[in-house]
Amino acid sequence: MWFRKGLVLGLFALAQIVLAGEDYYKVLGLRKDATERQIKSAYRQLSKKFHPDKNPGDSSAHDKFVQVAEAYEALSDTESRSLYDQIGYDAFKQRKAQGGNGGPGHHDPFDLFSRFFGGGGHFGNQPGQRRGPNLELKVGIALRDFYNGKTTEFQWDKQQICEECEGTGAADKVVHKCHSCNGQGIKLVRQQIAPGMVTQMQMQCDVCGGRGKTIKHKCKACNGERVARKPTPVSVTIQRGMADGVKIAFENEADESPDWVAGDLYVTLVEKEPKLDEDNPDKVDGVFFRRKGDDLYWKEVLSVREAWMGDWTRNLTHLDGHVVHLGRKRGEVVQPGHVDTIAGEGMPIWDEDGDSVYHKTKFGNLYVEYNVILPDQMESGMEKELWQIFQKYRAKNGVDLHKDSGRPEKVVLKEDQDAAEREHEEL
Ligand SMILES: [Zn+2]
Ligand SMILES: [Zn+2]
Repeated sequence: MWFRKGLVLGLFALAQIVLAGEDYYKVLGLRKDATERQIKSAYRQLSKKFHPDKNPGDSSAHDKFVQVAEAYEALSDTESRSLYDQIGYDAFKQRKAQGGNGGPGHHDPFDLFSRFFGGGGHFGNQPGQRRGPNLELKVGIALRDFYNGKTTEFQWDKQQICEECEGTGAADKVVHKCHSCNGQGIKLVRQQIAPGMVTQMQMQCDVCGGRGKTIKHKCKACNGERVARKPTPVSVTIQRGMADGVKIAFENEADESPDWVAGDLYVTLVEKEPKLDEDNPDKVDGVFFRRKGDDLYWKEVLSVREAWMGDWTRNLTHLDGHVVHLGRKRGEVVQPGHVDTIAGEGMPIWDEDGDSVYHKTKFGNLYVEYNVILPDQMESGMEKELWQIFQKYRAKNGVDLHKDSGRPEKVVLKEDQDAAEREHEEL
């Protein structure tokens, strides 16, 4: 009895797995209300991940690669997608098999891949595979985003394979073999270099421009260029405490061309100068911190009274809005240029686990340097009273300019001091 129960359970589990594979949204890891852009983005990610070139000998990856292409084809076309949503996977597959109106015809999955990444649908190191140039972009990131972490999007003008003509350059997407060069791209030209002397030269075909292919009607969208520059969004995740100048790689996301496999895009995150209005909606003081590695620096200004007499407070609003208290009690002196070290109020120290059950984020130090501002002008009443007080104490203690200067009585050289100390130890 227990055996049969186990068998039933086993079958049920198996059915679940198969079902999970038989839903195009699940294949792409998307919800039913996914946008067109999400569908594209999911295809880009997954087709790279499961590409057979990256998983040699792994047949399940190959199957996944085919499935992902199939799911993309079904969901990327509006008509086909709404049909799929209505009738479901099984009926949809059946109609496709019968050649019914299931949207665009079925493409070779490698062909589809090449429409996204260029080249011949492969990106391994196959001989003859050309690779496009890598590209580096710099993006300005506010200090607060390095502190808090953020996922942000920016756009750049990326060369994309024309979607209209699928990279053929032809309005009807049909490419013909060039008759002039018989598809070779080059022609042998006989040239007379002297009377009776003829040489053969290889020349690039002037009809097809060396491509060996011609088209009848140029695609209107790209003017037959096969590619077009378009503002393209890139989503970057800034992890807490990432270094200024960190480079994030986006595999095969540089410029596309049918002639090569797209190179890699590198996005360098650079800390930008803060702007009061744009980068500081919450009006935090921390925006003006300066960062050095894991530490932060702040300059605080004190009046003469505060520096000398104490009894003052400051509340610094940190980059995430929490408050750091600074202050001294009455009688506590702060010398100009003095630096307070506030442990744990610096930058988050980057860790690949971030803030999780495995790891609690640690922080660097915050260094607060004090500047004491002397007033240029004083209220005359105040000046008189202060003068009198200083005069009173000068008279009481006697005027000693040398003592007032704070210099030592006798200059002691460092070596003499060391020698004196050694002598002292020997005794
Ligand atoms: Zn085009
Ligand atoms: Zn030609």
